[in-house]
Amino acid sequence: MLRYTGLLALAALGTAYAQTPKLGIKPPKLVLLVSIDQFRADYTERFTPYYLPAKSGSKVGGFRYLMETGARYLDAHHNHIPTATGPGHATLMTGSEPALDGIIGNNWFDKVAGKGIYCVDDASVKVVGGGSSKPMSPKNLKVTTVGDELKMATGGRSRVVGISFKDRAAILMAGHSADTVFWLDGKTGGWVSSSFYYPNGSLPSWLQELNARQLPDTQKSHVWEPLLPNEAYALTRKNPEEASTSTTRPFSHALGSEKNFVSAFTTSDAGQNYLFQTVTTAIDAEKLGQHDVPDVLVMNLATNDYVGHRFGPNSPEVMDIAIRTDRLLSDLFNHLNDKVGLNNVDIVVTADHGVLPVPEESGSEYRTSSIRYPEPAAKAIEAQLVKKFGEGKWLLGDGLYEQNLFLNHETAKTKGVSIRDLETAAQDAAMNVPGVYVAFTRTQILHGEVPHWAWTDKVINGFHPSLGGDVMVLEAPGALFDSGTGTSHGSAWAYDSHVPLLLHGPGIQAGTYGRSVATADIASTICHLLGVEYPTGNLGTPLREALATKN
Ligand SMILES: [Zn+2]
Repeated sequence: MLRYTGLLALAALGTAYAQTPKLGIKPPKLVLLVSIDQFRADYTERFTPYYLPAKSGSKVGGFRYLMETGARYLDAHHNHIPTATGPGHATLMTGSEPALDGIIGNNWFDKVAGKGIYCVDDASVKVVGGGSSKPMSPKNLKVTTVGDELKMATGGRSRVVGISFKDRAAILMAGHSADTVFWLDGKTGGWVSSSFYYPNGSLPSWLQELNARQLPDTQKSHVWEPLLPNEAYALTRKNPEEASTSTTRPFSHALGSEKNFVSAFTTSDAGQNYLFQTVTTAIDAEKLGQHDVPDVLVMNLATNDYVGHRFGPNSPEVMDIAIRTDRLLSDLFNHLNDKVGLNNVDIVVTADHGVLPVPEESGSEYRTSSIRYPEPAAKAIEAQLVKKFGEGKWLLGDGLYEQNLFLNHETAKTKGVSIRDLETAAQDAAMNVPGVYVAFTRTQILHGEVPHWAWTDKVINGFHPSLGGDVMVLEAPGALFDSGTGTSHGSAWAYDSHVPLLLHGPGIQAGTYGRSVATADIASTICHLLGVEYPTGNLGTPLREALATKN
């Protein structure tokens, strides 16, 4: 009987929810947020001629459908450092910044545990689904997500689903009370998750069935070649490291010939296809958008990041995967139109960060002063500290974790060096390292002594008072501290922070908006569409031009 009463109460809550949206507009049945990993804002412009038309008969396109019939922000930026996957995804659905949400990097030195950690590490949980993955959860995310708020507003009845090849992307967007969250095991190519989401230790049966088909393995003889004729790629440039692998096509990558097949698979069109196939299967299996309360589906396209790191933003591979992403988005939108009706789906497409061109390509060919610094900056900083204060381990762990430099306070104590003196010496040392633009100490940041330059909010937003390092070290525009090949991201500068922001659906006012906005503005905008409260760490402001007052 108690149970029955509980169900009645829940049903009443659902009705109450549906009647009280904030803007007087009907809430969507589904919110779909697509985060394209490492997708710069210029990709929506540069490749437009090759994207599908906004509409064709009864079918809708991909990017152009959103750009031409929805709201489009031309100047959206991540307003924090590091511009990396963990912090970027945490911001998208929390409306927060690393300074508050606690995701200060993909990795950092945990001062309490005394070791380096990964942003979604959680040794207290177990891997579900086997494979080689380590246990993960949203433990380090100190604030709620839009999905968490929606679950609370609907008495837990909304479904919240997060899907990505990357654990950190799926977990940090979906949040703490999500229902279905999973990512790909790097060794087996199977979908896995955490006992945090599945305390009974088993994945949903539909996902087990999908895993059992071992679809990635069927792609071992696949060769990724360009989708369009060669002429379409005329303006692209190969990563110089790939120059020797010329074929009659702009590129040709046989997945089976690579050392790590799963990595080759996820860095190809086949991987992208599989991600979308899985998302479509999830929509059907979980009946997303087909309940009497709204659902949330967050998905991340990690393939774009893997391809971008290896080949660079000017490569034919990046252009090709963008064009294929457009086709796959179109298929997904049309599928949702059949199942839910696009007039019931709010779609947001954005990215977690951009990327720097491959220094060897842009630097030498275009004389852009873009330089790779193979020597880790931390080594050069420590060498100077040893010179000043004597032998000793002056840095903690790897020293520099993205922009956070962690100093060893124990060594300082032993040597009789004050923390202030050590901080200042490390700041000076960092600024002597070629490729470093500026450094700020923890004391300067906490005392409001960071100058008000046009971009220094990114430093303040990236610094967490208890988790952050002792010095924040910022690379110069175009500088890449990476001893490997290809390229990367993480800086405060436009190529890393400027991302697309496209919105479409009920309650969204179509238009092209030039105002500079932050990715932290997305979450509160979605909350208004859903009629739920902001996440606990929200710092953003709703995108007012894009919010229709009625529909
Ligand atoms: Zn990346």
